[in-house]
Amino acid sequence: MSWLLLSIVSRAQQSAFFVWETDFEHALQTAKKEDKSVLLYFSGSDWCKPCMKMKQEIFNSVSYKSYAAQNLISVLVDFPRYKRNALPNEQIRQNEQLAATYNEKGIFPLAVLLNASGQIIATANYKPGGSLPFLAYLESKIKPKNQSTTHSFAAMGSPFEITIVTSPEVNANELIAKAELEIRRIEKLISSWDHHSQTSKINTNAGLSPVKVDTELYGLIERSIKVSRLTGGAFDISFASINHIYTFDGSTNDMPSEEEVSRSVQLINYKDILLNPLDTSVFLKKVGMKIGFGAIGKGYAANMAKKFLINNGVKNGIVNAGGDLCAWGAPVNGNSWKIGIADPSKEKPFIAYVDLNDLAMVTSGNYERFIFIDNVKYAHIIDPRTGHPVRGLKSVSIVCPDAELADALATAVFVIGAKNGLAFVNQLENVECLIIDDNNKIMLSKNMRLNEE
Ligand code: AMP
Ligand code: MG
Repeated sequence: MSWLLLSIVSRAQQSAFFVWETDFEHALQTAKKEDKSVLLYFSGSDWCKPCMKMKQEIFNSVSYKSYAAQNLISVLVDFPRYKRNALPNEQIRQNEQLAATYNEKGIFPLAVLLNASGQIIATANYKPGGSLPFLAYLESKIKPKNQSTTHSFAAMGSPFEITIVTSPEVNANELIAKAELEIRRIEKLISSWDHHSQTSKINTNAGLSPVKVDTELYGLIERSIKVSRLTGGAFDISFASINHIYTFDGSTNDMPSEEEVSRSVQLINYKDILLNPLDTSVFLKKVGMKIGFGAIGKGYAANMAKKFLINNGVKNGIVNAGGDLCAWGAPVNGNSWKIGIADPSKEKPFIAYVDLNDLAMVTSGNYERFIFIDNVKYAHIIDPRTGHPVRGLKSVSIVCPDAELADALATAVFVIGAKNGLAFVNQLENVECLIIDDNNKIMLSKNMRLNEE
């Protein structure tokens, strides 16, 4: 697809301020969610002099409060002795349990640093000297936090955006720049606009001779033909044989003559793309036949950028290839990437949200590149059976583990239509979809889950 239809919603850092937490379970949950550590402060607030000093010098300092607001969930585990300071029974029970687990020797005061799973990272007693040595000690024990780095650029005629989440010592910008180069390399290989590309060579030699190509391009064509078989020809890279008779820039067009359409439509047939595995050559059987990767190329590029980044040690990221998204790992805050699906009628920013955990989501839609013929809006997607642009749907979003497959299937379901498209997707394992038709009716496949938050 070729427009920015989806956007990554949960990127904002949480802004934080310092508070003492008293509920340990809640503290652990928050620490997990916000990627923080937990600090237990064992105190006898009304009888233990060093406890009072530690609180005064360290925990009440501005430097502790600002450090803790960003990095810690601070839990006060207090054991007051005077009746007037008595805690509720439930709190007393929790604090005693915490002391039995984390402060067996009953040391007061004691600071115990835990990770978000409740395991001890370090302990510290009170030492006079202020908050800074204490903070330096904590910092040396807490492992550096992951950072989120984003870079946007234009490629394949679309806006791209890559976000990765890495530890601070990684040169994230350099890695993303290399992933961008990988995308540009793929663009060169598959472009049918670039006259020197291998794809263009295949097209100019249609009906004349086979063209030997790189195994990479050969593989992409082979997989494209597989999707054609799977979709009964609804997805067909040889759609490009007819593409030149339409202009999909939103301007008004006359429908090309039936004669012109039928002349070109005969050239669309994935069965006429002949592959020779012995020399990885590709031959288009008929003169005038053409192939194009508009419906699968960005998904492939997204997959390859992700593969490059994973191979270089990046455990969390999301590649947005003009709206074709693939995500792995998790963002800095949260367990999964939350993605908004744009409202095609633009009444509200998003009609739904989807959580992506090691999944891709690709949307084909009719509202950025389209054609008006006699005041009827058509998508830039061609029905290979008729040679006419498709109408009836506003958007099709496919969710599955593979961005390339999601890209091809989104286009195919657009051609197949809502009813048969849903039935088709429901037969596929690990593939889900959301369809919006021209009447703004939203339809979901069997196991499509939306984020209802
Ligand atoms: P997408 O946005 O992924 O649905 O891709 C749309 C683009 O795919 C169009 O702009 C065409 O370049 C190309 N295309 C159109 N119709 C088809 C089709 N039936 N099969 C494969 N590619 C198509
Ligand atoms: Mg597609």
